[in-house]
Amino acid sequence: MVLCVMQAAIYPGNVLSLYMKKPSSFKYKSGMYLFVKCPDVSPFEWHPFSITSAPGDDYLSVHIRTLGDWTTELRNLFGKACEEEVNSKKATLSRLETTVIAEGAEENTK
Ligand SMILES: Cc1cc2nc3c(=O)[nH]c(=O)nc-3n(C[C@H](O)[C@H](O)[C@H](O)COP(=O)(O)OP(=O)(O)OC[C@H]3O[C@@H](n4cnc5c(N)ncnc54)[C@H](O)[C@@H]3O)c2cc1C
Repeated sequence: MVLCVMQAAIYPGNVLSLYMKKPSSFKYKSGMYLFVKCPDVSPFEWHPFSITSAPGDDYLSVHIRTLGDWTTELRNLFGKACEEEVNSKKATLSRLETTVIAEGAEENTK
C-alpha cells in the first residue's frame, strides 16, 4: 500500500514524525505497528514502527527515532525537504513517496 506523506516534523532528540493519508479501508487498534519502506533510502528494507495516531484519526502517524543507517538516512531526506520548504517559505512540505504495509491489515480490512 503506497501512502502519501502529508507532513513531516523533526523534534529534539532526533525524532522524525511522519503524518500520512489514511485509506478509509485501513483499520487498526491502539498498540499496532506497521512496516515502512522508503524507496529513496533503500528499495528493499522494511522497518517496524508503532502507529502513534489514534484509530479514529483520519491520518496515520509514526514517530521514528534516529538510531542506525536507515533511520538516519530517512531523517536526512525529510530534513532536506523541510529545509527547502522553510527556505522557499512555502506552506506545504514536498511530497516524498513512502510505502507502508500494516501487520495484520488484511484481516482487519475484510
Ligand atoms: C514492533 C516494533 C515497533 C517499533 N516501533 C518503533 C517506533 O515507534 N519508533 C522508533 O523509533 N523505533 C521503533 N522500533 C525500532 C525501529 O524499528 C528500529 O529502530 C529501526 O528499524 C532501526 O533501523 P536502522 O537501520 O536505522 O538501525 P540499525 O542499523 O538496524 O540499528 C539498530 C540497532 O543498532 C544500534 N545502533 C546502530 N547504530 C548505532 C550507533 N552509531 N551507535 C550506537 N548504537 C547504534 C541501535 O541502538 C539499534 O539498537 C520498533 C521496533 C519494533 C520491533
